[in-house]
Amino acid sequence: MKFNSLHEVLTDYVRDLYSAESQLLKALPRMAKAATSPDLRAAFTEHLEQTHRQVKRLDRVCADLGIKPRGKTCRAMKGLIEEGQEVISSTGDPAAKDAALIGAAQKVEHYEIAAYGTAKTFARVLGELTAADLLRETLDEEKATDERLTALAESGLNQEAAEEEVDAPRGDPLAARTTEEFDEPDEDEEDVEETEMRTGEDDDSDAAAPTPRGETPGKTRRRVDKTVTRRGR
Ligand code: FE
Ligand code: FE
Ligand code: FE
Repeated sequence: MKFNSLHEVLTDYVRDLYSAESQLLKALPRMAKAATSPDLRAAFTEHLEQTHRQVKRLDRVCADLGIKPRGKTCRAMKGLIEEGQEVISSTGDPAAKDAALIGAAQKVEHYEIAAYGTAKTFARVLGELTAADLLRETLDEEKATDERLTALAESGLNQEAAEEEVDAPRGDPLAARTTEEFDEPDEDEEDVEETEMRTGEDDDSDAAAPTPRGETPGKTRRRVDKTVTRRGR
């Protein structure tokens, strides 16, 4: 590669972005299909529509700069999409997979933000103000998409994946318990405290704990176990 001027560097950037966006036109539908959360799927689908407009915008940039858009492959985007494909083909917990899809998509957006930001600056320095403005428009869209993905990551999406982790901590002998036992209403937990007061037993009580009136031994024991588990977190 040989650069004789900033204009040639800008040309290289614009062609690289043209290749990157073109690759994303094929990758985004696969990301959308792989997403479980309807919100995440909508984010991918809407960004696909936006990406179509971004490619057209790059055509206008090229026309404005008097250059041809084709002739380069963005190898970074190729790699990022390959990584995204690994997530797309992954199996396991759907909420965890959605979280991984968000991460893969944000890596893509960050690459675009870096490349559009630099290209916009070069265009401005060269006095190519129309091109600079068009590049800034796309830059703003990429930033907004990144923020939307962050919001999705902060919302219930990743929370669900995080809870899976809490429900089954590594090496916890109680890990095999069902989630329903943890998700019972708090009122039930107060019940346990009352039972403990009546029986005079503490958290270390075992199968020898006396059975309170009206309770079956199995029920009491399970409840006490749950309290131990909660406090042990
Ligand atoms: Fe884009
Ligand atoms: Fe590139
Ligand atoms: Fe994008």
